[in-house]
Amino acid sequence: MKSLVLEEKHSLSLRDFPIEREEAMGSRDVRIKLHTVGICGSDVHYYTHGQIGPFKVERPMILGHEASGIVIEVGSQVAALKVGDRVCMEPGIPDPNSRATRLGMYNIDPAVRFWATPPVHGILRPTVVHPETFTFKLPDNVSFAEAAMVEPLAVGVHAATKAQIRPGDVAFVMGAGPIGLVTALAALAAGCSRVFVSDLDDAKLEIAARLGPITPINVTKQNPAKEILAATDGWGAEIVFEATGSPKAAASIFEPLCPGGRVVLIGGQSQPIAYDAGAAMVREARVENIFRYAHVFPRCVAMLSSGSIDVKPLITRTFAFDDSVRAFEIAASAPKGDVKMQIAMPQ
Ligand SMILES: [Zn+2]
Repeated sequence: MKSLVLEEKHSLSLRDFPIEREEAMGSRDVRIKLHTVGICGSDVHYYTHGQIGPFKVERPMILGHEASGIVIEVGSQVAALKVGDRVCMEPGIPDPNSRATRLGMYNIDPAVRFWATPPVHGILRPTVVHPETFTFKLPDNVSFAEAAMVEPLAVGVHAATKAQIRPGDVAFVMGAGPIGLVTALAALAAGCSRVFVSDLDDAKLEIAARLGPITPINVTKQNPAKEILAATDGWGAEIVFEATGSPKAAASIFEPLCPGGRVVLIGGQSQPIAYDAGAAMVREARVENIFRYAHVFPRCVAMLSSGSIDVKPLITRTFAFDDSVRAFEIAASAPKGDVKMQIAMPQ
């Protein structure tokens, strides 16, 4: 049984990997057979650049952190899960005794161990041992493919939570990649009356426009601030979500924002970015930053099950595991119109 291993920058292989035989089961752990794994921008970035910020790939590492699977073994003290349960998993395991964790901010515990963030291995492999507390049972009407979208969806739901959306708010999401689109879906589910989404890629914007009351804006042809102010009688959007990571997007982030509005920075920044504090000041803008998510997986599963959020239109391609090196090459080429690619593990 093989794993997808990032040997070093630009070098992937499908091979047997010893971690399988090393993982010990704790009494509160479950062993999960992986079923579907999403390819994340961060996995692709480790492949193309070998590092993200301070996290550097220094020895071979298994990729992947967006996953669903089936419980195949349970520890002696596991109460809520049993063999055969279909589940999705939260990839970050904090130190339960750390100060941040005890304060409820376990996602920003400096000691958190997160799949496919060096030196921690990811889950493009046959099985994984994971704590019961970070493993969530799926209702029958949530597919493995949808469940593997819970991890990126959690980022959007966390961002919408930080934005403190009120029913009827207008939101603007910069970026129509997977994170931008799950954020738009979360903003609508949280009560936004309409959402504007900007991108450079018309194919992605077409997908966005089909997800609900979403107005696409192509930044190569339109000025987002002008469009949003025109559509809101000159008032602006109550919330702006930045999901591109582009310094250029950040530079103009307050222009479409209404007085007293909120900005949530989601996009990863490889370099320090600048924004116009004067433009923030005259609006008394509140700027929030998020790092991954905390406490939202059960909500995401519940929304997929009830139908209040549908992530299926975002899954644009599925590859067999044997094809996963090619899948990463395609993902690294950033093909137009592809939002989320997934890998189906051998069953
Ligand atoms: Zn991800």
